[in-house]
Amino acid sequence: MDLLINLEECYSNEDRMIQATVADFANKELSTGISDAFEKGYFPTKIIPEFANLGLFGISLPKPYGLELSKLAYGLICYELEKIDSAYRSFISVQNSLVMYPIHEFGNEKQRSIYLPKTSSGEWIGCFALTEPDHGSDPDNMETVAEKISGKWVINGSKAWITNAPIADFIICWAKTSIGIRGFLVNSATRGVIINEMKHKMSLRASVTGEIVFENVELAEDCILPGTEVGLVAALKCLTQARFGICFGAIGAAMDCFETALDYSKNRRQFDKPISSCQLIQADLVEMYQELTKSQLMNIQLAKNSNTKNWHIQVSLAKRNACRVALNVARSSRNILGANGIMLEYKIIRHLLNLETVFTYEGTDNIHTLIVGKYLTGDNAI
Ligand SMILES: Cc1cc2nc3c(=O)[nH]c(=O)nc-3n(C[C@H](O)[C@H](O)[C@H](O)COP(=O)(O)OP(=O)(O)OC[C@H]3O[C@@H](n4cnc5c(N)ncnc54)[C@H](O)[C@@H]3O)c2cc1C
Repeated sequence: MDLLINLEECYSNEDRMIQATVADFANKELSTGISDAFEKGYFPTKIIPEFANLGLFGISLPKPYGLELSKLAYGLICYELEKIDSAYRSFISVQNSLVMYPIHEFGNEKQRSIYLPKTSSGEWIGCFALTEPDHGSDPDNMETVAEKISGKWVINGSKAWITNAPIADFIICWAKTSIGIRGFLVNSATRGVIINEMKHKMSLRASVTGEIVFENVELAEDCILPGTEVGLVAALKCLTQARFGICFGAIGAAMDCFETALDYSKNRRQFDKPISSCQLIQADLVEMYQELTKSQLMNIQLAKNSNTKNWHIQVSLAKRNACRVALNVARSSRNILGANGIMLEYKIIRHLLNLETVFTYEGTDNIHTLIVGKYLTGDNAI
């Protein structure tokens, strides 16, 4: 919707055109059927070739592997996709920021030339396996190990909550070696890799999530991503990229809730007048509009700042803000729809449930609070 503060002035012509193209595609191709996918719990995989045709795999990677679009364009794409459903944005975040980015950034030329053409065409789907059943916020304590035995890597351990794992052709697996955590490229069909879908989620139902067990999985020596620094640095760099997309995406989901509530309030009559004329409803609408506008301004500045000092901390602040604002907007919007607010047909409850995951994954609200708190005070919180 048009904003009182003309944010589009901050966009280049190219950014504006990309946003309009993706919005048009999303409205025509993604909105139909999303309620069904959410209700039945599946990711509509038939959309993958269309994502590829539109150039949505490799959005910010330099040519020849990607489209080399601006950071803002990447954010606006995430905004438009999540306006339909967080599952679509999650899918794009994983393939771009958590799969293609690390291969480009930390892989060697051979790995780039094998994996990136196949991932940008959508022929191969990847996933990013960092979280484990017993280690979410503290991945540094992971238990998955990679040992060098007779010139091969042997991986043992398990991962949980991995987006796209059940449909992934390969896994970027983070494992502890004798010198620290490193990233590995693992074909999903390798002997000893067992992937099970995690069913019965009540959030992000149109996204597939899996657990992965690695049982004596033998890999050739060159399956390691050679540029991954020892420790979590490389994995965290990937997460910063993905979190940036979430900042825009969560606000996209919230904007859809707000627009739905605004429209509904103009048409819903109680006490012989539209509820939009009630002062308390207007107060809720204005509060939402104000927070959405502020969040978008913050996100635009975040995109501009992508090469500045402490960008990862800026991203933490913006992810924390976007998820909090989005959940509050979704809840207020749900309230404005009364009982209808819990119906799938009106979308808000779907966004609200999805946003519970978005609040938690890619660093929980508490973890981002600790990151920003440490920046402000210089102290590790006790
Ligand atoms: C649908 C879905 C998809 C996901 N996709 C992926 C994926 O593709 N790849 C992947 O690797 N992971 C993925 N995740 C995992 C996600 O990143 C983790 O769930 C997240 O990091 C939190 O970990 P946890 O669930 O183990 O919670 P925990 O770490 O157990 O945290 C539980 C609670 O304790 C709080 N807490 C923990 N430590 C502290 C502390 N020191 N101080 C204060 N509070 C603290 C947390 O904030 C949280 O509120 C996904 C999760 C979901 C739900």
